[in-house]
Amino acid sequence: MPARTNEQYPLQYIKGVGPKRAEALAQWNIHTPSDLLRYYPFRYVDATNVTTIKDLRKRTFLSNDRFESVTIVGNISSVRTFPGRMKRVIHTLDDGTGSVTLVWFGMPHFFEKAFDIGETIAVFGTPGEFNGTLQFIHPDFDRIESDDNFLNTGAIVPHYHSGEMLKAVGLDSRGFRRIMRNCVEQFASNEAEIISDDILDRQKIIRLPDALRAIHFPASSDELAQAQYRLKFEEFFFFQLMLARQRRGAQKEPGIAFKVKSDLAKRFVESLPFMLTNAQKKVLREIMADMEKPSPMSRLLQGDVGSGKTVVALLAMLVAVDNGYQAAIMAPTEILSAQHYNTITNYVKELGIKVIELVGGQNKRLRTEILTHIADGSAQIVIGTHALIQEHVEFKNLGFIVIDEQHRFGVMQRAALRQKSYQPDVLVMTATPIPRTLSLTAYGDLDVSIINELPTGRKPIITRVGFESKIKDVWTFIRKQVAAGRQAYIVFPLVEKSETLDYKAAVEEYEKLRTTIFPDIPVGLLHGQQFGYEKSDAMEAFIKGEIKILVTTTVIEVGVDVPNASVMVVMHAERFGLAQLHQLRGRVGRGAEQSYCLLVASDRVQKWMFRETEEKKKEDYAALTRLNTMAATSDGFKIAEVDLELRGPGDFFGTRQSGMPEFAIANIVRDGDILTRARAEAFALTETDPELNEPNHAPVKKYFMEKYSGASALAKA
Ligand code: ADP
Ligand code: MG
Repeated sequence: MPARTNEQYPLQYIKGVGPKRAEALAQWNIHTPSDLLRYYPFRYVDATNVTTIKDLRKRTFLSNDRFESVTIVGNISSVRTFPGRMKRVIHTLDDGTGSVTLVWFGMPHFFEKAFDIGETIAVFGTPGEFNGTLQFIHPDFDRIESDDNFLNTGAIVPHYHSGEMLKAVGLDSRGFRRIMRNCVEQFASNEAEIISDDILDRQKIIRLPDALRAIHFPASSDELAQAQYRLKFEEFFFFQLMLARQRRGAQKEPGIAFKVKSDLAKRFVESLPFMLTNAQKKVLREIMADMEKPSPMSRLLQGDVGSGKTVVALLAMLVAVDNGYQAAIMAPTEILSAQHYNTITNYVKELGIKVIELVGGQNKRLRTEILTHIADGSAQIVIGTHALIQEHVEFKNLGFIVIDEQHRFGVMQRAALRQKSYQPDVLVMTATPIPRTLSLTAYGDLDVSIINELPTGRKPIITRVGFESKIKDVWTFIRKQVAAGRQAYIVFPLVEKSETLDYKAAVEEYEKLRTTIFPDIPVGLLHGQQFGYEKSDAMEAFIKGEIKILVTTTVIEVGVDVPNASVMVVMHAERFGLAQLHQLRGRVGRGAEQSYCLLVASDRVQKWMFRETEEKKKEDYAALTRLNTMAATSDGFKIAEVDLELRGPGDFFGTRQSGMPEFAIANIVRDGDILTRARAEAFALTETDPELNEPNHAPVKKYFMEKYSGASALAKA
């Protein structure tokens, strides 16, 4: 066979693969030896992270304040099937120090034959106790080669994710180990280095072939750590390189140098019934310094709910308007757009400025009129949804744009915005705080301003976690608050991720609350599927206090501001993410009265220990952690850290369109140090050799262009 590179060699010719497995691997996007080498283990088992059954016995697991997954390795010594309503298969696993049982409900035919007597398996899970017997209910498991004599050799055994299709052709975790061994032996040493020598040396990074060998079959935990460091660094490095190039590209465009001494802005500040906080003043100075410069601003404005971001953004917009430019604010939803419109028209009503709103669903005549005002420049501040950039909206001279994004735009979308012919200054506002490592990734192309202080005089909101069996207490509490003149929100979650079901749940509950629980109190309804006028009617009636209890879905998550509402009840609170809960809680506590947030969860969550699978246990335990976190703190940055830890970076923003890269091995939460190093190297490299033309940067350039070919147009430095 002619010499071929790792990129071209057909996978099926690797010993142990063959055409059928190659086909299944192709479905998983593994086409070449290089791809296979980059299919990293997700877990390792070695003697140091295995617990003996004897030690397990010494610990107490029947407390529900701890989710602790352990690994044990042993031999299957018996299998029994118990008939009856709760039909189950039970294996006994023995590790020489004691025995535990593995319990499987359902699929008895499968589990009866799942293991051979005497077979060695590794079990991963949360142990429980039943009638004095330690048991694992539906744990994760992996078969261990018995000839490895695992516990005695001290080997570190890699474990690979697999799936039904792969398992069908023998590629479970063990199957992967077999073909991977051959692949590593034959191909790892051919992998060409992609990071330049100076960086490798400076960061004490091992070479790619060594790293690929060690990530699969490390000889020691030290070697494994070095391999992990190398591969994580590499992932961060190339992503940060893209950000660095984007940022450089954006800064090179000609932008507007605003004169920041503005009479309009001054009059606005003087008209405010409060003083700006020091934090607001500080970020304003940062924003003004950017606006004065001739290159376009790309800045992220972070601050907790209620920290006063809107006022800051509006001030900057007024400076732009005073310079003769138009300013726009782009909101993630129509409700929030309407809210911004109301707030801003109210703020500027003495200033003689024309503010208009452009959203979907406006009638044609009105729309044409609005578009004309935008095009001839008479609309000085334009507020809307992403309709503002998506459709054929022609501004006369847009100079400043605020993106209030609630995590809905990513790096790529922002780059697309900048590709428009105009080069306005861009201020991105996020509604919730974001941990630093995450903002360096999701917003790594932006400069960051943080408002780290709330206006004084806010009373902390009292937060309580409750369970559904005690729901009557919640209704009684609402009744008391309403009698005292307050108002309440009752929020229902999205059910089954479906918009239709979402509103049905709220509507059904609304009917029940209105007719049987609060027949004597005016109850209103607000959800995303209503007509525009229904939404605004409901909102208006609630603002005026005609409605005392507003039953709603997450449409009120952002921005809505009704100071007299002092109670926020969140139903099925276990279904909400932390960021959402924090946002929802931020809807109350805006007035002078003491406010409350009641998080009502299913009783099930309290008893997470008894869920039937590891996954469900973990899910409910995470839910409980979220609720307890909410009760324990109101600091948005702390909440965000816990959220990131629980959900992982991929899901933090709750959407795949968030522009968050999916890293194969790097972890933004835990690998913050590596991220910082990789970022520094990538930004330095972009400064010294923007085109990557130096010979020793050629491998970096080649790999970067391949990896980010789709984005290379955007990433032009
Ligand atoms: P955010 O957008 O950060 O959630 P907002 O800009 O909506 O916060 O401000 C929340 C509330 O606080 C608004 O009612 C606003 O008028 C008020 N506010 C803003 N800045 C101050 C301040 N410096 N002092 C007192 N109240 C303020
Ligand atoms: Mg706001």
